[in-house]
Amino acid sequence: MLQDWDFDAEVESQIRSLVHDLVVMESPSGDASGIHRVMERLLPDLFTIPDITVSWHQESGFPLLDVSRGTRGALLLGHADTVWAEGTLTTMPWYEDQDAGKIFGPGILDMKAGLAIAVFALRGIGPTTPFRLLVTPDEEIGSRLSRGYIEASAKKASLVLVLESGMPEGGLKIARAGVGDFTCTVTGKESHAGLEPGKGASAVREMAQQVMWLDTLENRILGTTVNPGVISGGTRSNVVAGQASLAIDVRVRTLGEMQRIENTLAHPPVFNPGTEVHYHGEFNRPPMELGGSAHEWFRRAQETWQDHTAEPLEGRRVGGASDGNFTAEITPTLDGLGAVGAGPHARHEQIEWRYMAPRVGLVRELVDRAGGTL
Ligand SMILES: [Zn+2]
Repeated sequence: MLQDWDFDAEVESQIRSLVHDLVVMESPSGDASGIHRVMERLLPDLFTIPDITVSWHQESGFPLLDVSRGTRGALLLGHADTVWAEGTLTTMPWYEDQDAGKIFGPGILDMKAGLAIAVFALRGIGPTTPFRLLVTPDEEIGSRLSRGYIEASAKKASLVLVLESGMPEGGLKIARAGVGDFTCTVTGKESHAGLEPGKGASAVREMAQQVMWLDTLENRILGTTVNPGVISGGTRSNVVAGQASLAIDVRVRTLGEMQRIENTLAHPPVFNPGTEVHYHGEFNRPPMELGGSAHEWFRRAQETWQDHTAEPLEGRRVGGASDGNFTAEITPTLDGLGAVGAGPHARHEQIEWRYMAPRVGLVRELVDRAGGTL
């Protein structure tokens, strides 16, 4: 990679110690005080940026940090929570592989190094560039508390930059699946399997047919998957089953497919009229597609990256969801601008240090452009 986005030695040691401090503060979703500590640790580095407004919001006892300057600039989205339970550090400590240029630790890729990238990018923007940074407490558990705040903030921004991890060679995430969690419940009628089989209506048999029917809702060409993941039902082998339930994960790439699935599950077929079939649930995040001017922003990001690193910047479609799924409908959104590494949510979670400076450079440039000062 070219040198022009490199850190000077002092900045490099500051960002490294920020990443370190964030990783060694455990902050699983649900741990309000751990999450609060992570947010507070960002403040000393943020306070070097002139004229910022810092405000704290409480959502059901969980903090949300909102740092801004001016109006209608870029909105940077980060989350302070991780998927790692308290105590994980004892078996999965901060560890640097100097030769390989990699650092390991719980939550480092998703997304504590991403938070550090946001902070250091903002430290480098023009002195009057407007921006807003939100650090939320609950992304890993669906962002129920923060969603409204995120969407309201996106409405006031010209561009949304999500600090989730990048693809292995640094690429951005230009499309994300919408994720639906549904449950199917079947109520049948119990009876003795040997003496009065005709008097019952088997919920298990009906559920088996529902499972086969769900298969027909998939559309691999459009990227729609329907996974019947967990099934249960019945009480004993000699009783016609009176109830059964099924947990289903649905992934879609387009809003049209999301609506098709919702409408279809609202009116399912019933194979045995003696049973009742209900589907409950919803899409907790709509799909994210790179539409209209988001394409233009992606092209600018590609050019800038190529100019400074002499490497291409790819755009990939991914199955997982993020807060970018909420904002893409409202404001052009680029996702995957955070750290580059491997193993998010896995024991070998790691970042590649050589990508940190180019990421800071890319985010800085996008914020300046979105704020109209470049
Ligand atoms: Zn994340």
